[in-house]
Amino acid sequence: MALFSKKDKYIRINPNHSVKGETPRDAPEVPDELFAKCPACKHMIYQKDLGPAKICPSCSYNFRISAQERLAITVDDGSFEEMFTGIQTKNPLKFPDYEEKLAQAREKTGLDEAVLTGRAVIKGQPAALAVMDSNFIMASMGTVVGEKITRLFEWALDEKLPVVIFTASGGARMQEGIMSLMQMAKVSAAVQRHANAGLFYLTVLTDPTTGGVTASFAMEGDIILAEPQALVGFAGRRVIETTVRESLPDDFQKAEFLLEHGFVDAIVKRTELPETIAKLLEFHGGSR
Ligand SMILES: [Zn+2]
Repeated sequence: MALFSKKDKYIRINPNHSVKGETPRDAPEVPDELFAKCPACKHMIYQKDLGPAKICPSCSYNFRISAQERLAITVDDGSFEEMFTGIQTKNPLKFPDYEEKLAQAREKTGLDEAVLTGRAVIKGQPAALAVMDSNFIMASMGTVVGEKITRLFEWALDEKLPVVIFTASGGARMQEGIMSLMQMAKVSAAVQRHANAGLFYLTVLTDPTTGGVTASFAMEGDIILAEPQALVGFAGRRVIETTVRESLPDDFQKAEFLLEHGFVDAIVKRTELPETIAKLLEFHGGSR
């Protein structure tokens, strides 16, 4: 038993582990931002190897990117002009800690809400553009997201411009309850007015696009593109499995499954998106 009682003296189990009376030896420092684990193939990827489009070199998974990163790889240099900023929610349900959560999200993302809206030029083609960012409260749709997208469509209608939206969302924003769900109808009405004027609307579904956003403007595009392996759905897999009491195929709710079943027009690699979008805008001449 002496061996165990004197282990501090004789045995070092882990050199980095603090032992009584000693200061721990420093662990080798590896900054978090140096490597990223691919959620699809689980490989550790050197960040620099992901490139600006953030595509896994091992399995081609398209990492989730911020709205700013999306702009950088999509629009012509310096062409983006942000619009409809400074709109703030009134916290209609007086949901506890909601304002703090919003303040933290603003701080973390540098965005004022979960969607960035404005005008841009993509490979020479002007468009009204919205980019959702899943880093902002999972890009959930509350009153401000709904209002910004509605105003974008109304402005595009006045300017006779096509609309391009990169969708990403965890669904409706629960902190705003029914007010969030009403945004589905409000945005859809604006989409319809824009469509009635013969103007073109293109959506690009990115990982993940779910809930009320899928059930409204994400699937209302004249043409619907998706990024490879993007999760697209309404309710989550477990909810559906327990409701229908059936197990679902592995690729259920993946962009490839949706393409096969006619819900998506094409899956386009992230690096080829600007070219494809520009061609579609040109074909449709800003109208359909
Ligand atoms: Zn991978």
